[in-house]
Amino acid sequence: MIIINNEKARKELFRNSNIVDPKEVKYKINAYFLRFNCWNASESYRELMVSFFPMLPLIKKEVSFYEADYILYAHPYARLEDMSPSVIEQIRWIDKNRKEGAEIIVVGKAANIEPILAGSISNITFYESHFTGILGKKFGMNIKDEYIVYDSSCGWLNIWPVNGCLNKCKFCRRTYMNIPFESISLDNIKSELDNIKARAPELMTGICLRAENLTEYGIDIYGEQRLQDLIKLIASYEEVKYIKFFPIGLAICEITDEILDSICNIKKIVPSIALNLEAGSNRMLKLIGKNHTRERAIHIFKELRKAHPKAYISTGIMVGFPTEELIDIYELADLIEQTDPNHIFCNLVEIAPKCPLAQLPQLSDNLREYHLKVLLGLLKKQKREHEADISYPKIFKRGKRSTYRFKKKCEEHWKRFSLLTIPRKTLVLKKH
Ligand code: SF4
Repeated sequence: MIIINNEKARKELFRNSNIVDPKEVKYKINAYFLRFNCWNASESYRELMVSFFPMLPLIKKEVSFYEADYILYAHPYARLEDMSPSVIEQIRWIDKNRKEGAEIIVVGKAANIEPILAGSISNITFYESHFTGILGKKFGMNIKDEYIVYDSSCGWLNIWPVNGCLNKCKFCRRTYMNIPFESISLDNIKSELDNIKARAPELMTGICLRAENLTEYGIDIYGEQRLQDLIKLIASYEEVKYIKFFPIGLAICEITDEILDSICNIKKIVPSIALNLEAGSNRMLKLIGKNHTRERAIHIFKELRKAHPKAYISTGIMVGFPTEELIDIYELADLIEQTDPNHIFCNLVEIAPKCPLAQLPQLSDNLREYHLKVLLGLLKKQKREHEADISYPKIFKRGKRSTYRFKKKCEEHWKRFSLLTIPRKTLVLKKH
């Protein structure tokens, strides 16, 4: 476990003034591209928490790019967009401009670029996983990936019990990227928690369980899902007062009755739970490779709400899938009404060319925009038990007449609505 004094650590990690005289350091390392590409913690919290914070001693003192013998490179990628072209562009720029003989070290998900580069760049190394420990060994530092991290800016203990996801949803980068799957054993987590309990029990008050796919925890070690046992283990500590499942992690299709029971039976506060509906009709869920049905999603949301009435339940949805019709939007609105989440994160679909869904004809921008408007209109009319925020990307173009009209119409209804000022908009859906 490491403790991140967040303010200090973030400043250390992201400031550009760590540059020192090359004579002062044994290894001349530059980490500009690692920091620059992964600065946004919400997109790359795994990298930030598991790898980069523990890497601080290595990059605390670095030399300028042009003087470096080693150039560290990382990229968080995104779930929907394919970032490969910009990764290639950056690596080619580095190759062209680096000092003669400098080694490029590509770490994490960005190592997926190796087969695409196909040997076209020399003196380049790829470390896909456990790279903090590998770099530690290479440069003689006692650092390694950490899966239990106390982040003081949030005030809770993050546990990242499993890396990767075995699903292949047809819109997700997982269909074409290799991100190793690996769980941390229950025994290891227990021994870390026992240590924390002995040394600093106050850090255990709040636990945040997070991973790309928590529901698959344990499959590689135990041959079956064991999230229910992990939850029971964490909840068994008296010091733990709340457990949150945030901001990603639970795949609805993999929430077995056992896992559902274990979450519902937590005798602690559960302040937040995140689980993504993604689409609203069973036809669309099947098309995009989500293995849940709307009926199962409704059941799960209802059970969670019943067990933890005060939990802030958030969900992600997407608008604009290939073949999407208005009936899918109506069903999506209906599913949202029935599941009644507190927050809806709405993404406009951007299918990466390598994803299976890219084989199907895509909706035009205008049609996607229209579907989103229809959805927002339907949500506004719903009778809600809980007030909800809905955030969605900026898709409206400044200067377009339809944008202006829509903005005016929205302003009449939602005081907090301000179009075109921030990249992601938030509407508040009021209770009736
Ligand atoms: S469950 Fe999530 S991470 Fe896994 S393939 Fe589907 S969208 Fe991607």
